[in-house]
Amino acid sequence: DRLEPATARLVEKRLATLGPTTMLFYRQPLEIVRGEGVWLFDSQGRRYLDAYNNVQVLGHCHPAVVEAVSRQLGQLNIHTRYLDDAIHHYAEQLLASLPVADGRLVLTCTGSEANDLALRLARQWTGRQGVIVSAAAYHGNTERVTEVSPSSYKTGQPPPWVETISLEPLNDPHTDARQWLQQETQRALCALARRGYDCAALLIDSIFSSDGIYADPPGFLQPAVELVRAAGGVLIADEVQPGFGRTGEALWGFVRHDLQPEIVTFGKPMGNGFPVAGLVAQQPMLARLAQQQGYFNTFGGSSAAIAAAQAVWDTLEKEQLQRNAARTGAYFKQQLQQRQQRWPVISQVRGSGLFIGVDLSRADTQTEPDPQLTGRLINALREQGVLIGAAGRHGATLKIRPPLCFNQQHADLFLSHFDTVMSELLAG
Ligand code: PMP
Repeated sequence: DRLEPATARLVEKRLATLGPTTMLFYRQPLEIVRGEGVWLFDSQGRRYLDAYNNVQVLGHCHPAVVEAVSRQLGQLNIHTRYLDDAIHHYAEQLLASLPVADGRLVLTCTGSEANDLALRLARQWTGRQGVIVSAAAYHGNTERVTEVSPSSYKTGQPPPWVETISLEPLNDPHTDARQWLQQETQRALCALARRGYDCAALLIDSIFSSDGIYADPPGFLQPAVELVRAAGGVLIADEVQPGFGRTGEALWGFVRHDLQPEIVTFGKPMGNGFPVAGLVAQQPMLARLAQQQGYFNTFGGSSAAIAAAQAVWDTLEKEQLQRNAARTGAYFKQQLQQRQQRWPVISQVRGSGLFIGVDLSRADTQTEPDPQLTGRLINALREQGVLIGAAGRHGATLKIRPPLCFNQQHADLFLSHFDTVMSELLAG
């Protein structure tokens, strides 16, 4: 596709200035200049319905966060080596919402740092090295965390201390999810053992956002966790994607599966776009780390970060956004499922709350993933003013994950554009 001259100039400048790992969305890249609630606005003043950005969990530029951060930046923004009751207040609320026995909070700036530290804690605590993750997981960008993020590998295989478990058989409705995950975990433990590694941790994003979104049935992870524990490992729940109410039924994704992790990591939505992330781990694990190594994060838990996090926490409750995620998400998912009859290329619709995955398959086989159709659909929706992305190993699962203030009218607007675009793409 030919780019508009103004877009072409920006793309050229970008290639000349930014490293080649930075990636652009859409065949016609967007220059977004403003956001408000579920809406993004480009430099031409065109409005887009944002069904993709989960960081802005309250909606773009939510006034509660803007106000809290602006006020804090004008007063003080400093690191965590002074007493500050605001951070204790935040930590008390967060800890009370989690089933981590004798938990304590460590603040970081990114989910990657939180997962990196979580791996360090799990390995030190268990004295083991092996880690089990899902086959297309993404857990962040440090060197260690990239090794447990198979979706980042362009070439090569995981290192020998990493073993993956596949979720894809869950696409078949006849698969018993609990049994499959149990079997896979057993196989993964044996594979690690054969290579000389005991298992330190099962590291899981319980909505499986980059594997293609696997939510049901709740509880399907339990036997896998039991096996890992019996082998001496711990559970690290990566809540960067499912956390803060997105999955609707609970504040935390792992609660849907009735799990009690030893370590929970947080990120993205925690500050509605302001960099704040962290982990909660059992106190003895953190005490062991503190005996052996220091951990200090200059910007992690800064005064402004805590102001953002507290504003997010209060607003989630005040605006009942978890409940909205459950209600709007159920409606949205049901509407998408209804479309499977009209368009058999929609082979499955999965999800929980406002995290929905829609599998697209080739029209001839109706089972083989169709990344081309998925890409064309995403780009056509962008032309209609609707933003979404793709997930899954084949890139053939639409990833629908809007801010949690997304309501039924927004879902209807999405669906009407979706219908138009599907009709056009599948015509003839
Ligand atoms: N875990 C999961 C499940 C994620 O999706 C991401 C980011 N996409 C991360 C961790 C890493 O977070 P960050 O980009 O803040 O380092």
